[in-house]
Amino acid sequence: MIGRPVALIPLFSQLESLPNVGPRITKSFTQISVERPRDLIYHFPYTVIDRSHCDTIRYAKTNQVVTVLVTVLNHRSPANKRATYRIDVEDAEKKFQVVFFNSNQDYLKRILPIGEQRIISGKLEEFNGLRQIVHPDYIEMVENSGKIPKLEPVYHLTEGISQKLIHKIQRALLEKLPNLPEWISPEKKSTEGWMDWKSAVEIAHTPRQIHEIKLEFPARTRLAYDELFAHQLTLALVRKYRSRSKGRITEGTGKLQKCIIKNLPFDLTQDQIKAISEITTDMARPLKMNRMLQGDVGSGKTIVAFMALLSSVEAGGQGVLMAPTEVLAYQHYQSLKPYAKSVSIALEILTGHDSGKKRANKLKKLLNGEIDILVGTHSVFQQDVTFCDLRLAIVDEQHKFGVSQRLSLRKKGNATDVLVMTATPIPRSLALSHYGDLDISMLKEKPAGRKKIKTAMISFSRITEIIERLRNAIQGGKQCYWVCPLLEESEKVELISAIERYNKLCNIFDEKVVGLVHGQMLPAEKNQAFLKFQNGETKLLVSTTVIEVGVNVPNASIMIIERAENFGLAQLHQLRGRVGRGNTQSSCLLLYKSPLSDLAYQRLDTLRKTIDGFRIAETDLRLRGAGDLIGMVQAGIPKFRIADPRVQLDLMEHAQIDARKLIKKDPKLESPRGQAARTLLYLFSQEEVIHLLSVG
Ligand code: ADP
Ligand code: MG
Repeated sequence: MIGRPVALIPLFSQLESLPNVGPRITKSFTQISVERPRDLIYHFPYTVIDRSHCDTIRYAKTNQVVTVLVTVLNHRSPANKRATYRIDVEDAEKKFQVVFFNSNQDYLKRILPIGEQRIISGKLEEFNGLRQIVHPDYIEMVENSGKIPKLEPVYHLTEGISQKLIHKIQRALLEKLPNLPEWISPEKKSTEGWMDWKSAVEIAHTPRQIHEIKLEFPARTRLAYDELFAHQLTLALVRKYRSRSKGRITEGTGKLQKCIIKNLPFDLTQDQIKAISEITTDMARPLKMNRMLQGDVGSGKTIVAFMALLSSVEAGGQGVLMAPTEVLAYQHYQSLKPYAKSVSIALEILTGHDSGKKRANKLKKLLNGEIDILVGTHSVFQQDVTFCDLRLAIVDEQHKFGVSQRLSLRKKGNATDVLVMTATPIPRSLALSHYGDLDISMLKEKPAGRKKIKTAMISFSRITEIIERLRNAIQGGKQCYWVCPLLEESEKVELISAIERYNKLCNIFDEKVVGLVHGQMLPAEKNQAFLKFQNGETKLLVSTTVIEVGVNVPNASIMIIERAENFGLAQLHQLRGRVGRGNTQSSCLLLYKSPLSDLAYQRLDTLRKTIDGFRIAETDLRLRGAGDLIGMVQAGIPKFRIADPRVQLDLMEHAQIDARKLIKKDPKLESPRGQAARTLLYLFSQEEVIHLLSVG
């Protein structure tokens, strides 16, 4: 099948092909992204108006829509034609008024003749203590009461389009709705009890009960599933025809790994074991690995990364581990050095610091294969950095690296496997929708023996008390981070506020024990400041948010965050993760400026109640909406029209599994179900991905 399926052609024609639609209305529709009949199909009512009949308005609430049989009592035609026109009516129990503005008197007398009965439907209002309906939506003779829908769908509108008009257009469209072949697997369809696409669309537009417009009503769920399935099919196809690019088989002997594991001062968690196995299995495949390792701060990603790097060394190749900052690169280097030494492999570090002879020497060794594992910053992207046989590239804290950098790293090796690690917990719903083409390993479980971090919300007005407590803690040998407000105005203001705080704290505590780091410092200065904190020379480290990523000072057990309400939840969680790494009880103080908004309170409260990064990320997503989530997923956020991945996670998951299954069984989408899936892809305008089928 080439091109769009015939059945879909009318759905992708001009809107003007529909009755009642001309150029003006077409233009109006574009305001709500409705450009073709197909878009109109997916423009579902968002609510319904209950127009079932009642005997009297007596018990109805103001602003409620009522449908009631009335007798017309009297017309109070005003002297001034422009003035309000009131008509007294009476239902079974109560008198009220029907009100018109700027209306033609003869017309009103005709539609509401005195002494006769009519069924009227409209919103009940109150004016000067009198109940009234202004411009009823319906006025019908008793025998025509069927013309008033019991449950009327309500659509989002735009200027120039009324509910009545959109109803008319939708009705015409529904009459011509084609039958489409079924793309959902028969098993799924029958377990869920779903109806065909066509029936589902019809039901979605003509709900018979209020709950039928809810996402969990079968017709809506089915349509949401279609959307998720189309999305996951797209990802699965991209994944299939991209990762087709041949990789290399990197199969370690397991010797070095075993040796390290035997001598670890701790047992690996089940999640770590699983992740290591997933990664090494993937590396042993003849396809390029494209995997993400997700684990909350402190979940122990480094050792997992190291095991993967060992695999490439065992297989006779090299590996590289990249960190976003020099501080972190050094930290990785230092923590891995003893391990590397214990199994006699060559570990080196390359940063912007290296220059001249020293650098040249390292590069030479790298090219010769005398370096097995390289740890570095973005400096390893430089042109002249060449490996002898790079098999695995690991990028830590991936969101700080751009995609292009990741790709250029891939080019350094011959079909190098890539593993990206991130400590930013990505809610599963987002991970599935954004990284569906990436395989994911997760470390959910924290290593044993971690102490809980006590988290408290404290108003900034209690600063004196906080300082006193801090003084005691420092005297007791504890160390503390003090994070200054994230300010919207500018980085400069932020910097000034950090310096101010630093100066104030220097006046309170001994100047020698207070350190400062901020973004404007040179890397060397920053390193110096961290080092002093790390070796305990300074006790209190004042900073802007530069400490967010990865820094590890186990003795630091207090985290104070000023104006916590300004930070994103994920960011606060990251910051808090800087403490609680040692044996002492740690605490995190979220200082806020009163009064807190409800939303801000809820957010901070979430943080106070849980340390589960994934839960926090899910809440963040729920409270703020996907669009706003942690600066990391700026690009390519799919906007779903029907589905809501935040609450339809299971559905998304199932769609992913089923999409992958289908592509595996029928990679060219040629079987009857495969053909149907193509129809679905066209329906969701994914024709680009269909081209992949002919190229691949
Ligand atoms: P992150 O995932 O934040 O990068 P790290 O890899 O830096 O975490 O690990 C944090 C600390 O936990 C390190 O000191 C590491 O040695 C330790 N660690 C890692 N795995 C375990 C484990 N299974 N049991 C106990 N401690 C562990
Ligand atoms: Mg880390």
